[in-house]
Amino acid sequence: MLFTFIIMPYTPVIGLEIHIQLKTKTKMFCSCDNRGEFLPPNTAICPVCTGQPGVLPVPNQQAIEWGVKMALALNCKINSLSKFDRKHYFYPDLPKGYQISQFDLPVGEKGFLEISGTEESLSEKNIEDLEENPKKPKIKLPKNKRIDITRLHLEEDAAKNLHSPEGTLVDFNRAGTPLVEIVTEPDIASASEAKLFLQELQNLAKFLKISDAEMEKGHLRCDVNVSLRPVGDTKYYPKTEIKNLNSFKAVERAIEYEIQRQTKLWEAGQAPEKLTTRGWNDTEQTTEEQRVKEGSEDYRYFPEPDIPPFNLAAVEKKAKLELPELPQKTRVRFADEYGLSKSDAKILTQDPEWADFTEQVFSEVWEWLTSLPDLDGTEEEIMAKHRAKVGRLIGGWLTSKLMGLMAENKIDIRLLKITPENFAEFISLIYTNKINSTNAQLLLEKMLEAGGDPSIIMEEDRLGQVQDTNLIETALDNVIKMNPDQVTQYRSGKTAVIQFLIGKAMKETRGQADPQTIKTILEKKLK
Ligand SMILES: [Zn+2]
Repeated sequence: MLFTFIIMPYTPVIGLEIHIQLKTKTKMFCSCDNRGEFLPPNTAICPVCTGQPGVLPVPNQQAIEWGVKMALALNCKINSLSKFDRKHYFYPDLPKGYQISQFDLPVGEKGFLEISGTEESLSEKNIEDLEENPKKPKIKLPKNKRIDITRLHLEEDAAKNLHSPEGTLVDFNRAGTPLVEIVTEPDIASASEAKLFLQELQNLAKFLKISDAEMEKGHLRCDVNVSLRPVGDTKYYPKTEIKNLNSFKAVERAIEYEIQRQTKLWEAGQAPEKLTTRGWNDTEQTTEEQRVKEGSEDYRYFPEPDIPPFNLAAVEKKAKLELPELPQKTRVRFADEYGLSKSDAKILTQDPEWADFTEQVFSEVWEWLTSLPDLDGTEEEIMAKHRAKVGRLIGGWLTSKLMGLMAENKIDIRLLKITPENFAEFISLIYTNKINSTNAQLLLEKMLEAGGDPSIIMEEDRLGQVQDTNLIETALDNVIKMNPDQVTQYRSGKTAVIQFLIGKAMKETRGQADPQTIKTILEKKLK
């Protein structure tokens, strides 16, 4: 089904509107605790954020600075003069009857973000389809595609409605939470591109440490606009807005569903004639018609009279100085400098904590490696010689083994007991064949449980590789004595039986011997 749109005569035209909650200490216009999501309902509130008459909003300077930082990270032009406006609509979760937002002078405008696909960013559905029919053409993912950003503005979040069969309750803890809203140009052409864009955006917010940006927790919320147009046509047709998408998967599925729904309408000569709003039904995996969307004139925007316009020149200057290396750049540097594969570099830069951990591990490992007495050459020569091998080793043990174990045990990097120093030492044990990979896995599990020095744990639990060939010889003599039938079979030409004997020898040496060494000695003995 999915691949029909590769050859279909319509091009999807997709734009996104994203809200990101800022994790400032206090709310956007009052001094209430901004961590209301963790507090009992209606305890982090005051007359300002519950819209009592006669109160004055005071803008949160931190939120403005973070908004500017995010706008800079998205290559936006910062408006030196910016202001807040009232956006009027009535809803039970909006006690003032208006939301303080920004209309004509947002914090930033005219930016862009580049997206670039890799194999693993294929959507789940694409992968399912490819597994079923591997001969189908692969979905083309973009390479350095630029998605233009229309604007980035600041606003306050609404309260939260809690619906139940008895009625609806309102929790005002969320009212007044600072939000940045990011609006893209309709430059996105597929569900996979939309997902890639959102992942980049999440990555940026995390790196700037302005939001946890977890979609499932509502820190990052996305509305999607989808329309189609015949291939070659440059006109825009009425779009459908899909609201309340709270996971990457929902965004992807909703877009795929909507493209198929609209394709059928176009084919039947019933292309959408006006703007509509649809909600995503996660249970049914369909979109459903909601109310007809209001045009911006219906919001009756006007300047917020209680907050004077403000100058952003100084904020911009400060934010530029504080802007960290952004994840896209870190990713490239990780691959070039550390010899990590592109996909490992991407995984390790999805969270700034992981990126820090990775840098520290590499720095420790390199320091250790270049100080080894038996390695010849200058530091540069040693690095050039070992970079790729060390990069692959560390990348693999971090992204598949350690991250896998952490996911299994639901351990977050912030709670990890393994320090970068310990992990670097662990890597050096593997790199110098002091431990084989089976026992290294066991050692890593023990480190994950209680932390600690890997060499000590290896000694105590006798996980290290037996270097002593006499010991291996003795073990092999035993194995040969105890398994005469297999030995006879081997000598009569059934050489595959050697695996059975190696297994026995591994048991005899408690997994501490290197299987390759065992094989070499065994083959000699069986001649
Ligand atoms: Zn308040």
